[in-house]
Amino acid sequence: MEQIYMIPVNEAFDECAKVDACECPICKMLEKLENKEVDIALGPAMMEPNIRIETNEKGFCKRHFDLMLQRPNKLSLALILESHLDTIRGKMKGNPLKNIIVPKHKSQVKATKSLNESCYICEKVNYHIMRMIETTVYLHGYDPDFRVKTKKQKYFCMEHYQMLLEYAKNKLDKKKFEEFYSDVSLIQEKYLDKIIKDVSWFAKKFDYRYDSEPWYDSRDAVERAIKLLSGK
Ligand SMILES: [Zn+2]
Ligand SMILES: [Zn+2]
Repeated sequence: MEQIYMIPVNEAFDECAKVDACECPICKMLEKLENKEVDIALGPAMMEPNIRIETNEKGFCKRHFDLMLQRPNKLSLALILESHLDTIRGKMKGNPLKNIIVPKHKSQVKATKSLNESCYICEKVNYHIMRMIETTVYLHGYDPDFRVKTKKQKYFCMEHYQMLLEYAKNKLDKKKFEEFYSDVSLIQEKYLDKIIKDVSWFAKKFDYRYDSEPWYDSRDAVERAIKLLSGK
């Protein structure tokens, strides 16, 4: 476990433990990481030749292109795109039909496929998120204050819930894993019960017989259910 991740992990768990918060703490860390990596990619990093070679080869996914588009610095983005598109053009040389039907051109199809499936920012972010998952599991086992903080979380999105459990199962001894599992699964079960109730009530409100009934917590139930299922 690397010390440098302890501060951001604690900060995210503090923020998501607040009474009015309703967010997955790992998604919270992810959001901060993504913003930081987007700023770096559009900032000094894009003038670094070795980083430019990497972004030319890997490109970006739709989510991270969208984040970059929201930034005011369109010149950086244009320059990154210019050399990235050149790289793609280089891989597409020759007849595209031949690329598919002639076996010797298969490598070009493979190259284009890997280009479409890779993202420079996803790679960076995934690396740091994995370290933060490790830190979360470690802190839960060895820092009593952090365990209290963990119990105050509202939920974990399903992807990060699975990542936490998977890492904990592989790395912790039986006793520590049982403690971790019991804390996080209790949070998750409680939140799932609540969201099921809220979504059902939201659907009921479309029935005229429930017109005069209050909405309770169901107004944003659909959005919250999707956040639980797919993260940010
Ligand atoms: Zn999450
Ligand atoms: Zn991405």
